[in-house]
Amino acid sequence: HPVVDLAGVSKSYGDLTALRSADLVVHRGELLAVVGPSGSGKSTMLNIMGTLDRPTAGKVRIAGHDIDELRDRDLSALRAATIGFVFQQFHLARGVPALDSVADGLLYSGRGRAERRELAERALRRVGLGRRLYHEPHQLSGGEKQRVAIARAVLGDPPLLLADEPTGALDSRSGAVVMELLHELHEAGTTVVVITHDRDIAASLPREVRLKDGRIEYDSALGDAPAGE
Ligand code: ADP
Ligand code: ADP
Repeated sequence: HPVVDLAGVSKSYGDLTALRSADLVVHRGELLAVVGPSGSGKSTMLNIMGTLDRPTAGKVRIAGHDIDELRDRDLSALRAATIGFVFQQFHLARGVPALDSVADGLLYSGRGRAERRELAERALRRVGLGRRLYHEPHQLSGGEKQRVAIARAVLGDPPLLLADEPTGALDSRSGAVVMELLHELHEAGTTVVVITHDRDIAASLPREVRLKDGRIEYDSALGDAPAGE
């Protein structure tokens, strides 16, 4: 089954429809961008794909599970097992060394402290921060902080990584390093969805889904001609 399967998904806030009848299937191993201007519904779609929010209408299946059939508690368990999140702001606690920030991602996984730290060290090496294990956020550059956040997100090897404007707070060079890392994770088998308003980033990924006014106006996987610019 697909990792993400949205069928006729809509989300309304009062009279405002933030997402309209979205159909989107993401298969295991894909790397794709969801791109659109501010207010086009990207965060709304991310929140639905991430099971942080339920739609007003339509079907959402994540890794084969129909989320309508899950209570909130089971949905949280599915989310924890299946999805890693990366945000524009890195959300690293002040004064906490990178190794602990990452290891804390496994606090509720039932693993012991030594194993959590061992896995965290491996994840930090994987993102190229093997020499920053004991650095605190204020000792790290923006790009390094984002790599710590990515290490935390991929620690438990989730099949799906959702990245919301992962380069939005970075200069272009650090942003390029972060995008390169997302490509590497994709090559290693993780399904990666990048939410961005940056068209160049979107165009550089294997698949591009464009949102406008809450509608999917173009999906490169469907092979239709791009809408006029
Ligand atoms: P984007 O991420 O592309 O900027 P959003 O998904 O955040 O777009 O927003 C889409 C539309 O839905 C916007 O008009 C936004 O103001 C509105 N919206 C998003 N979340 C809420 C909410 N919780 N309550 C009311 N309106 C919302
Ligand atoms: P982004 O920078 O990702 O587009 P936004 O500023 O659009 O983020 O939204 C940030 C968060 O605030 C999202 O989770 C969104 O659902 C919520 N939000 C956006 N617009 C509104 C709104 N008009 N009312 C309430 N919540 C909103």
